[in-house]
Amino acid sequence: MSPTVRATGGVFCQFCGVDTSSELITNPSGHPADAAPGAGHLAELDELVSRCTACPRLVAWREEVARVKRAAFRDEEYWGRPVPGYGPADAEIAIVGLAPAAHGGNRTGRIFTGDRSGDVLFRALYDVGLASQPESVSLHDGLTLHHLRITAPVHCAPPANKPTPAERDTCRPWLVRELDLLRPTLKVVVVLGAFGWQALLPVIADAVWEVPRPRPKFGHLAHAELPATDAGSPLHLLGCYHVSQQNTFTGKLTPEMLREVFDRAKQLSGIG
Ligand code: SF4
Repeated sequence: MSPTVRATGGVFCQFCGVDTSSELITNPSGHPADAAPGAGHLAELDELVSRCTACPRLVAWREEVARVKRAAFRDEEYWGRPVPGYGPADAEIAIVGLAPAAHGGNRTGRIFTGDRSGDVLFRALYDVGLASQPESVSLHDGLTLHHLRITAPVHCAPPANKPTPAERDTCRPWLVRELDLLRPTLKVVVVLGAFGWQALLPVIADAVWEVPRPRPKFGHLAHAELPATDAGSPLHLLGCYHVSQQNTFTGKLTPEMLREVFDRAKQLSGIG
């Protein structure tokens, strides 16, 4: 369950009712390495993520963006906090990007929501039946994901969309725990872009799947089947060009290519 914004001001977690407005966080969740393993379910994990203050540079950036705002959104209350994953706890498919966008997820509080990348992504997810609607514009737009969870290896918007290796490593335990909690149903992870691929492989290795040597290489529709170390089902990794405007505006990634990846993910997960 993700935190919600109240029109009267303040940002309140649906899970615990705490006001998690970034400058009002009086009860940070602690270092991810200490806090993440204790999350007993995804709603609790999401709530802990939304109160994380472990990366000083990213805390300063997300709050500055939320204060200064983009002119088009000047009347909006920005989220300005870590953006948790979104989607059901029994998802068979996960999409992993890299980090929230400064004026997208960092504004709306939901991953890929309210930016151009999300427009392309959710249109394709709706077309293949993984989303209830083709748009994702705000926390209150009624969007539901089917069989799908969307998340990121870094939960705060970074300057220039580039987290440092140290920030990526600090955030890693959140995603390790998220994959642990999704483990009973998770079959496929679609990774958006080479950076996300590189960030995810160490997470996978910390979870219950083996990453072969040499490590599988990223590519569009690259596929690797990773055996489980717990005698459970393997995990299918699928590469996909990132849904950035740089890729979608230039035609490097077309809506057809995106639908093909998600159709393949459905097939591998056994739901389509
Ligand atoms: S990037 Fe991750 S670890 Fe760093 S402050 Fe944000 S949520 Fe916490």
